[in-house]
Amino acid sequence: MKSELLEVRDLKVAFTSRKASLPALQNISFALREGEVLGIVGESGCGKSLTSLSVMGLLPKGAEVTGGEIVLAGKNLCEFSAEEWCKVRGKQAAMIFQDPMTALNPLVPIGWQIAETAMVHMPVSRKEAHRLALDMMERVGLPRAEQLFREYPHQLSGGMRQRVMIAMALICTPQLLIADEPTTALDVTIQAQILSLLQVMKEETGAAMLFISHDLGVIREISDRVMVMYAGYVVEEAPVKELLNDPKHPYTVGLMKSIPDIEHKDKPLYTIPGRVPSLAERGEGCPFTSRCPHAESLCLTHVPSLTEQTANHFVRCHLYTNPGRDWEGDE
Ligand code: SF4
Repeated sequence: MKSELLEVRDLKVAFTSRKASLPALQNISFALREGEVLGIVGESGCGKSLTSLSVMGLLPKGAEVTGGEIVLAGKNLCEFSAEEWCKVRGKQAAMIFQDPMTALNPLVPIGWQIAETAMVHMPVSRKEAHRLALDMMERVGLPRAEQLFREYPHQLSGGMRQRVMIAMALICTPQLLIADEPTTALDVTIQAQILSLLQVMKEETGAAMLFISHDLGVIREISDRVMVMYAGYVVEEAPVKELLNDPKHPYTVGLMKSIPDIEHKDKPLYTIPGRVPSLAERGEGCPFTSRCPHAESLCLTHVPSLTEQTANHFVRCHLYTNPGRDWEGDE
């Protein structure tokens, strides 16, 4: 049994100003074992990216950790100084962003951007870093590595730029890889190539991965377990097959229904009515109340607890803590 690499315990993040503190992440807890892929799914504004940025110590201005712990390889990152964080980022934990065009430096040849990551985190000479970068470029499927080494980000296609990001992330063989919507900005065929590359690289390096996406279809391709987030809460977590075969939370059920069905092309696409409440709109009860077809008075006033319904399948919904209620087939 592989040991736990990352443990996030009761993490709370809020956007604070002189006038108010608005909670954005509420008691987020999860664990990730070595070599495991945890998919985090939810719409924009659910807290997926904020969760990953917390793990990387890259919270945006105004956001701060207000409670909980982030333990990576036995060390609580929340107690780290800025200098200690710099040693973790790139070396122990690396991140692949959605849009490589904004993540890469437009003025530096891509080969040197990859080599620089190695020089910052490993005791290697410039010549050795150059060799490591070329090797990594070949491993991630970048053609003509010698020539490409000297090219700039704008000279590459979107798919190639994302391969550069993956090479940069993996050159120091991090234990933890965070991929935040890495395929969202790409064409469908390139998406499939990048997903398969991430799978191969994960197998080769043994890295654990947090894979973030708004698309359950993409999540199911790569994840071992899935965590569904809504309005700053974890609302469901289960092994991927279990969650797809037996989604329990009404939000997860809605996400599943929203996946286009290619066998029934004439069927109208399903959408979950309403939208994710903004931070200022979040009230006292279950955050999904305004969009939920099963909401009752209890939901308006009490946030449900995350409870284990079957082995390793956790749900945050009063339907499962209120056993007297018969809701099967209730629409
Ligand atoms: S707690 Fe209530 S509102 Fe929230 S998801 Fe469950 S039934 Fe719907």
